[in-house]
Amino acid sequence: KVRVFWFRRDMRLEDNVGLYHALSGDFPVVPLFIFDKHILNELPEDDARISFIFEQLQKMRSHLQDHYESSIATYYSTPEEAFHELLKEFEVEAVYTNRDYEPYAHQRDAKISALLAKQGIEFHDFKDQVIFEKTEVEKNDGGMYLVFTPYMKQWKKEFENIDLKPFPSEDLLGNTYKNSRLPNVSLSDMGFVKSSIQVPDYTITKDLLEHYESTRNIPSIEGTSRLSPYLRFGMIGYRKLVQKALSVKNETFLNELIWREFYKAILYHHPETQNRAFKPKYDRIEWRNDENEFEKWKKGKTGYPIVDAGMRQLNETGWMHNRLRMVVGSFLCKHLLIDWRWGEAYFAEKLLDYEMSSNVGGWQWVAGSGVDAAPYFRIFNPYSQTDRFDKDKKYIMKWIPELNTDRYPKPMVEHKMARERCLETYKEAVKS
Ligand code: FAD
Repeated sequence: KVRVFWFRRDMRLEDNVGLYHALSGDFPVVPLFIFDKHILNELPEDDARISFIFEQLQKMRSHLQDHYESSIATYYSTPEEAFHELLKEFEVEAVYTNRDYEPYAHQRDAKISALLAKQGIEFHDFKDQVIFEKTEVEKNDGGMYLVFTPYMKQWKKEFENIDLKPFPSEDLLGNTYKNSRLPNVSLSDMGFVKSSIQVPDYTITKDLLEHYESTRNIPSIEGTSRLSPYLRFGMIGYRKLVQKALSVKNETFLNELIWREFYKAILYHHPETQNRAFKPKYDRIEWRNDENEFEKWKKGKTGYPIVDAGMRQLNETGWMHNRLRMVVGSFLCKHLLIDWRWGEAYFAEKLLDYEMSSNVGGWQWVAGSGVDAAPYFRIFNPYSQTDRFDKDKKYIMKWIPELNTDRYPKPMVEHKMARERCLETYKEAVKS
């Protein structure tokens, strides 16, 4: 008999809660990863996230092979089919995994645990990717916080009462199942090729975290951690990261990690907001949704340098600085009156760190329709954003070398007109 540990958003061998529990029993553990056809079939063949995950799996697999003569079983199929195959090969005692809070993951796990239960196999899931999940940070009278600051304060209060003990799964890897020839798919088996996008390393030095408050808004410098793709796929242990964030005096960085948990909790409680405005009135906005304008925005050809620089950074690297995510998002929704869901979908296609909760949260924030969002009448002015955050145009020039030539387009829409048009349209929608 074996146990199975199913990797999903926790792609690391160390300090992994579910893996630790799986390895703590008397059964050898078969590590498993499923390249889910439901997800992969939607992606282009050079999708950078698939390459990123694939590389990490190879690293983990080599580590297991070199030190423990074990491996990771990988399948390219639907989760149901993968378990079907696995159960043909092994007599399985139980399946262990870490919880995933997105709406699709929820349904998937319910299906798999029901399928396993029919055969008398238990499904154990654990909290690993957040400090607090579901209803663990709630108002005194119950109910989810819908405003960030009180949520963040309560989060910190609750944190004082918990013991962040480590789960040293790395010490138990000798209990993995000894067979280095488990099923294994390659990128080409799945119809993918290696992406040309390389994910840069992250930085979480004390120096960066201490000065983060003053560096985080300047896109021309390396003033943020670049952790987001690693956090998205669980390639870095979250509890240790939070401890590191707490070890510096300035709490701004910790607060950003709490934003991540806040948005996860909101999506968990309100899964319908993945495609509906949190504030229903905002679904009455008469979006213009002009396809040609949307194309210009996507390509970084709006004629607004700060917007175009952000979009080109996204298209070329799969990542965009947070300040720019707000600027380009506001421009799309407010200057062009294009539905935030179109922008959300484009980011979902391109972002290496795409995370439904943060992306939907971020887009509803810029559109004004979300929890604790910017009020609708606050419309980012691309010119003053440039003056404040890229005064010497270092960031802009990096992404738009043709800026001062005839090849660079004129602004596609006049700022003052667009602003007034937006105010009128929003006012009409939100009047009760
Ligand atoms: P740092 O500034 O170093 O922050 C550290 C970590 O804190 C990040 O990696 C992230 O996990 C978390 N974090 C920081 N800011 C936020 C925030 N505003 N909301 C939630 N978590 C945050 N982040 C994603 O991870 N995935 C997304 O799909 C995503 N889409 C976004 C869409 C829009 C329109 C906006 C405005 C923001 C979005 N963000 C998203 C949040 C933020 O832009 C990125 O997390 C950040 O830019 C990642 O870079 P970093 O790791 O260097 O961040």
